[in-house]
Amino acid sequence: MSDIIEVFDPGNGELIGSVASASRDDVEQVLATASNAVDIARNMPTHLRISVLRQVAEQLLQRHEEFAELIAKEGIKTIREARKEVTRCVETLRISAEEARRLGGETIAFDQMPGSENRFGYFKRLPVGVVLAITPYNDPLNLVAHKIGPAIAAGNAVILKPHSSTPLSAKKLVALFDATDLPAGVLQLITGAGAIIGDQLVSDPRVRMVSFTGGPLVGLKILPLAGLKKISMELGSNCPCIVMGDADMELAVESTVSGAFWAAGQNCLHVQRLFIQQDHFDDFSKRFVERTKRLKVGEKLDETTDMGPMISDAAASKVGEFVEDAVARGARILTGGECEGRYFQPTVLDNVAADCRISKEEVFGPVVALYPFSEISEAIDLANDVDYGLQAGVFTRDLGTAHTIADALHCGGVMINDSSDYRIDAMPFGGTRGSGLGKEGVAHAIIEMTEAKTYCFNL
Ligand code: NAD
Repeated sequence: MSDIIEVFDPGNGELIGSVASASRDDVEQVLATASNAVDIARNMPTHLRISVLRQVAEQLLQRHEEFAELIAKEGIKTIREARKEVTRCVETLRISAEEARRLGGETIAFDQMPGSENRFGYFKRLPVGVVLAITPYNDPLNLVAHKIGPAIAAGNAVILKPHSSTPLSAKKLVALFDATDLPAGVLQLITGAGAIIGDQLVSDPRVRMVSFTGGPLVGLKILPLAGLKKISMELGSNCPCIVMGDADMELAVESTVSGAFWAAGQNCLHVQRLFIQQDHFDDFSKRFVERTKRLKVGEKLDETTDMGPMISDAAASKVGEFVEDAVARGARILTGGECEGRYFQPTVLDNVAADCRISKEEVFGPVVALYPFSEISEAIDLANDVDYGLQAGVFTRDLGTAHTIADALHCGGVMINDSSDYRIDAMPFGGTRGSGLGKEGVAHAIIEMTEAKTYCFNL
């Protein structure tokens, strides 16, 4: 086995860097170091946690363009998409610094129980110990920060394992932490193929929490191996958006086109299934297709490019298979459908069967299916009739309708008059059902990465 992993630009195949490919001995070393750093991390004073996180946020801001270029080169984002990711990452780290000072507990009214009148106590939230953070390729910087930031704010030791296709942004971010006063061993990067080093990391009892973001196949593999430890699973989806006849159609088109093709659809919040009220279907569909045709696909570092490539040939082929499957069952391709190299054209389908793959599974690529509906209940039933439930969008001018639909959708968040793709880094984030377990969004990740410990004084 080679001891390095070469990292290539998925758009043009250019070699842009390399990272170590960890061996079993390397994994053992990292686990031992993390275990030894547990008390050091736990005892970091709050002011140190805050200052480390602030320093990294500040450095990142100063080197904004450098990081954006690296994200765009190693991954699938255009330079404009990558800049937005860096800006969000600065924010994620700033929020983490702020939340570090809020880590607390509550007093407990022990005297609510007859016989406990003389007792007084409280609980504190304490770090779990070692957090193993496993991250995907599509947001190679900010999704790393969503794990490191809260873990350090909470006083944990962290082992970070980024995706082997996009480890360079993560490595550069960890180097910023290494340049602060963060004690040695509290944050470690390990790089290697998940299929090779994943089991050893996940199953080790010294790891007290696995915080995983990625696909359901890997997530389901991790669950039985992890054993008795905390788990957070941020998995995929096939997010629905519902457009009512009374919606601001211009807003709905603009917002859902962006949500469908951001990061070439390689986005867990990707607008995949778009339900439009029957009387407005033709008008919406025409406008949606016209807007989609204006998207420019190509070279990621070109300022005018809207959409980049798929991460790999296999990922591009999988998207093609979804389209072929839909077409074989009667779907029409309104635009797109073609793939040149790894550049899959933005693709819009209609007349899509309810049981084909694009209606049920996660495509994780630039394909969106349009479905007409007449009654609200029909749209809700169709939107819910999948195994996923991450986020959804609803477009309507009627507050009552918005509330009814939002209440009825089975998912982690509903965006009214925004697509499923809307998110800020401070909000609770995470899905239901096949989309995962636990929440991210800094304050919520901190709760997941800590345990309440109760102190009771018998006075
Ligand atoms: P993936 O599951 O292929 O890989 C995710 C990570 O798991 C990588 O670091 C990979 O190296 C590692 N891994 C692979 N095999 C492993 C093993 N056996 N043990 C431990 N780790 C292993 O996912 P991906 O292709 O990078 O990302 C796409 C998926 O991630 C999509 O399904 C997408 O929806 C999901 N995602 C979810 C969110 C969210 O917040 N819910 C955010 C982004 C992406």
